[in-house]
Amino acid sequence: MTDIIKFFETFEFNISKKGHIFVISGFSGVGKGTIINKILQANPNIYFSVSYTTRPKRPNEIEGKDYFFISKEEFKEKILNNEFLEWAIVNDEFYGTSKTQVLQRIENQIDVILDIDVKGAIQVKSKLPNLTTLIYVIPPTGLELLNRLKKRQTETEEQILKRITTSLTEINYINAYDYIVINDNLDECIKQVQMIIDTQKFSSKVSTLYISKKIMN
Ligand code: 5GP
Repeated sequence: MTDIIKFFETFEFNISKKGHIFVISGFSGVGKGTIINKILQANPNIYFSVSYTTRPKRPNEIEGKDYFFISKEEFKEKILNNEFLEWAIVNDEFYGTSKTQVLQRIENQIDVILDIDVKGAIQVKSKLPNLTTLIYVIPPTGLELLNRLKKRQTETEEQILKRITTSLTEINYINAYDYIVINDNLDECIKQVQMIIDTQKFSSKVSTLYISKKIMN
């Protein structure tokens, strides 16, 4: 046997990777919440990052589960203390992702899901490009989305108009996303998001290959 083959025989290959950030954005009312809940149920090891917001709590929402609801003063204080991985103003309210909540988890190899808008998504991608995958969920038609928004009865006509206008401006940023999925059939859409998550596990971009020497007997 040549020396090189003998040397190669002693090699052990291991892959180490950090946790990954999956950003899920989409038009208001597109069903992002349902998709995220189903993905979290099927993947108990994935952590959902609970955002901070200044918008009023809706009756069905739970403090610390859906959002941490804080005042504008408290939010601005957190900006000054550099506590956010990203933050943005959406529909006149502040929204932000806690830096420690996310960074600690990815260091500990835990994947994290963020439900944030396009402005926030772009900030996260530019800070952690190899650790972030951006997924955008769109409705099959405008009419379908309007019907869903009306059915959920959580917004006034005026708020619906504002959310639709925001969605239309978001279209300009969709090219920054890695994946676009259509929520026409919910189960199919969840399957597609799950596939994106699974594929990421095998990406060489986010893995570090360690070659160590095997201890031979
Ligand atoms: P909603 O008020 O309907 O819960 O959310 C409105 C928008 O704010 C959604 O597009 C949601 O994804 C976005 N959002 C929620 N949390 C955050 C956050 O922490 N950062 C950013 N940039 N957007 C967020």
